[in-house]
Amino acid sequence: MIIELLALAALAAAPAATPDLRTALPDDHRTLTRTTAFAEMEEFLRRVDGQPGVSVSVEGASAAGRPLYLVHLGGGEGRTWRIFLYARQHGDEVAGTDALLYLVRDIAGKPGLLPEDVDLWVMPIVNPDGAEAGTRENSAGADLNRDHMVLEQPETQTLHRLVRRLLPQVVVDCHEFGRDSEGYRARGWLKWPDITMDSLDNPLFDRRVRDAALRFLGSADAAVRTAGHRFLRYWVGGVPPNDEQRPSAPDVDGGLNGLGMYGGLSFIIEAAARHADGDRDADLGNRVDAYLALFGQILRGDGHRAEDLATIEDARRRPLPAFLPTNYLWVNPEATVTEFPVLDQATGRTASVATANMMTTMAVKRTVPTPLGYAVPAAAAAPFRALLERHGIPFEELAAPRSFAAESCELLRVEDEFDEVYSRYEGRQIVRCGEAAAVDLAPGSLWVPLVGEAAVRAALIVEPAAMYGLYQYPRFRELAGADGTLPVLRVVR
Ligand SMILES: [Zn+2]
Repeated sequence: MIIELLALAALAAAPAATPDLRTALPDDHRTLTRTTAFAEMEEFLRRVDGQPGVSVSVEGASAAGRPLYLVHLGGGEGRTWRIFLYARQHGDEVAGTDALLYLVRDIAGKPGLLPEDVDLWVMPIVNPDGAEAGTRENSAGADLNRDHMVLEQPETQTLHRLVRRLLPQVVVDCHEFGRDSEGYRARGWLKWPDITMDSLDNPLFDRRVRDAALRFLGSADAAVRTAGHRFLRYWVGGVPPNDEQRPSAPDVDGGLNGLGMYGGLSFIIEAAARHADGDRDADLGNRVDAYLALFGQILRGDGHRAEDLATIEDARRRPLPAFLPTNYLWVNPEATVTEFPVLDQATGRTASVATANMMTTMAVKRTVPTPLGYAVPAAAAAPFRALLERHGIPFEELAAPRSFAAESCELLRVEDEFDEVYSRYEGRQIVRCGEAAAVDLAPGSLWVPLVGEAAVRAALIVEPAAMYGLYQYPRFRELAGADGTLPVLRVVR
């Protein structure tokens, strides 16, 4: 344990080994007050590329044509635990990028900092257009962390291609949240943690993988506290005690569950930034320090790597369960009271707010029997062919007419707005499916069987009865017929 703690300290504070690996920023990340510019990052990556055990590649281009850089550290025999860290889907959330560049610098200067079994892959800026413009969205105006279901943006397409190629056991998405939101300040509070983390939570994912990820969060808490920072499991929501707080959304339109669809442990990290002050990056060094403490724990692991490796490999081969959850949400079934910590803005002291509106449990409200697969009539084949290819989901294009026993589904409505009264979430599609009947499909129609490693992705993306599905996106909603008939059939025989 002492050796582990020493390694953690070394990772958090190691100076650059040679002048060649200096960034344009201070050697000691704790004194950072501005983020690395894209051009400065490019210059740093040029210098670090080709150092022993380090290689840099370009994996794609942003909507405006900027390169998407990937750094590989490690490689070679015996490195069986692949970790992929990516930052800056949101261009204005900076700390993850800086922390990743310091991590790359430190490992490049001292390769022994990388555990012997770890093969590390780092994409420091997923959204270079937003990073340059200081915007959340990319240059096409898209929020990349809401694009993982449809993969309409080149940046998210690149991420998914990369994860399919690497099949990491761990993927980590790096963000920031506002510590000083208006609602908190109105109460004289600030949000308490310096850094937060959550794990994949869609109820279709293998329970053992979700449990392993949650178990890891406990060790992350200990490591971050040891480094002198405050840690909480990541949550979203309003101000306690009356507003709802809940862990991260189970939807697959974000990177957390979107990349979790490939079967590994998937996490999101969010560091606390102050937005209301004049200089929002005055405390950047503190955020980067908290990030590096968490990265150290992710690289080191919590001592369960062999069993997690076996669990993940087994889960990736698992057939789908007999029922698919289609409606699920966070609840607090016993009105359990949580002591929710906040910071007193005036004194900086920790206060505790008792609330029973902190959701504790993911509840499944509705399932549908798992079909054999999905069929897409020829008229809608083109957009679905493109969608399936972007997700690497195998399908067959019918060369001759074929008959199926299939259920047809109809979109009754899409509820766009967040429901303030009942705290229910936007983008719900309300769908009714009928009884199975014989359907003859013409050549050019698509058949998507629910088999193999892509079955989880196919079920999460294509299932028409899903409450959070494709038809919340305008491009897919317009494929529904005038009577609401959806262009996907649930094939049961
Ligand atoms: Zn974000």
